[in-house]
Amino acid sequence: MLSAALRGELVKILGKGNVSFEREALVSYSYDAMNRKYPPDGVAFPGGAGDISRILKMANRENFPVVPRGAGTGFTGGSLPIEGGLTLSLERMRNIREIDAENLTADVEPGVITGDLQAEAESRGLFYPPDPTSVKFSTIGGNIAENSGGPRAIKYGVTRDYVLGLEVVMPTGEIVFTGTRKTLKGVVGYDLTRLIVGSEGTLGVVTRAFLRLLPLPPAQKTMLITFKSLEDAAGAVSSIINAKIVPATLEIMDSVCLRCVEEYVKAGFGGVEAVLLVEVDGREDGVGADVEDIRRISTENKAVGFRVASTKNEVKDIWRVRRNVSPSLNRVRPNKLNEDVVVPRSRLVELVRGIRGIAETRGVLIASFGHAGDGNIHVNVMFDKTNADETGRGEDAVKDIFELTLSLGGTISGEHGIGIAKLPYLSMELTPDTIEVMRKIKRTLDPNGILNPGKIFSKERSPGYI
Ligand SMILES: Cc1cc2nc3c(=O)[nH]c(=O)nc-3n(C[C@H](O)[C@H](O)[C@H](O)COP(=O)(O)OP(=O)(O)OC[C@H]3O[C@@H](n4cnc5c(N)ncnc54)[C@H](O)[C@@H]3O)c2cc1C
Repeated sequence: MLSAALRGELVKILGKGNVSFEREALVSYSYDAMNRKYPPDGVAFPGGAGDISRILKMANRENFPVVPRGAGTGFTGGSLPIEGGLTLSLERMRNIREIDAENLTADVEPGVITGDLQAEAESRGLFYPPDPTSVKFSTIGGNIAENSGGPRAIKYGVTRDYVLGLEVVMPTGEIVFTGTRKTLKGVVGYDLTRLIVGSEGTLGVVTRAFLRLLPLPPAQKTMLITFKSLEDAAGAVSSIINAKIVPATLEIMDSVCLRCVEEYVKAGFGGVEAVLLVEVDGREDGVGADVEDIRRISTENKAVGFRVASTKNEVKDIWRVRRNVSPSLNRVRPNKLNEDVVVPRSRLVELVRGIRGIAETRGVLIASFGHAGDGNIHVNVMFDKTNADETGRGEDAVKDIFELTLSLGGTISGEHGIGIAKLPYLSMELTPDTIEVMRKIKRTLDPNGILNPGKIFSKERSPGYI
């Protein structure tokens, strides 16, 4: 609980109207896409690093948790104030401060919506590739904290690959700069940028990001390819990669996803068991050749349909199918355990086959879709939480899926992070020594454990607060 005196001090720091203790605000900021509710005791809307520094110094002095929040689209509960305290919403800090077309860089505040940066860059013939499917809502700060990927990761990498440097307010309130602002290289001191990227809001609050841009590829082609079996589709993915083609996007959707999405988009998927959405970009002559190669490979892998979008509207229609998958899954079961496992691409068919076996053994419905091109599949174990037996079988299936993934040389999270959702499974992948190194970093930078406590690490084995 924040006492009346602390509330008064927060109002003094931020100004009236930039901090709220009203019930409506507490409820509105109590959830993210993981769909669990933890209301904060207050919500602050800082205007810059100075405000955040003062708040964090106060939190250390008075010992209350502070939880950074972007748009709340995270799937693992990262922005949830599970121990109460103050939610630090970065939504007021949404300036694109500069796009430097000469140096191909951007200087942005953390609350900028990723899609807005992309649109601004594109209007100048430039390109910001990281594109989580939540691109229209999620923020640059949230993307950096989660090291978000997305459909284009197969060719262009993930958020980490575009962060040159950061302004960060450390948990104890110091304002620091990491990395570089406009140079592509820079090796002065430890790479603190990489430490902060993917730290899930537990090691610092990002208040400004210096990002790398690319020239906008001149040509792009979008394809929708249908298959009668999921294994054929996964086989086509492996064949495309084997043929040394690097598409900008290579997404897969299984029959459960197609059933859910069909009602929304009326795409005519009757009789189809799996779909690939493939995009290639580059020079006009190059993309034409890629399309023909992918057509041939698809036929060899028993594709039953191959459509190339010929207008911008057709491209939008194809993407509408993909973007609607996640929100429409609750049409089959009301709840889902949403995992994002990754395997080496050569093991994709084994993963797909193994997941089907787990669904049968555990008697649960599993919907799989996602970034097949980089081996990252969003595996959604569907259940009804009012049914305890089904819920238990769903949880067992998740553990099976993680075991399978690790046995194939993969990782239990490609882009959604650990948060609270995957915290119980951390030690399946990391050794105790590795976890202890991470805990030491957290303890050193956040000695009072006030920044986003209770995330990533379980409490049981902890000597102190983490
Ligand atoms: C429909 C849908 C599709 C999605 N598709 C993808 C996808 O393709 N790829 C992918 O990677 N993710 C995807 N996600 C997950 C999510 O959108 C990403 O994790 C995104 O980066 C979260 O951004 P956010 O602004 O909503 O952050 P939030 O959810 O608000 O916060 C996420 C984490 O970042 C921390 N944080 C936020 N801002 C800051 C800051 N300024 N400084 C320090 N820490 C901060 C929070 O404390 C929290 O731990 C999807 C989500 C949805 C709902």
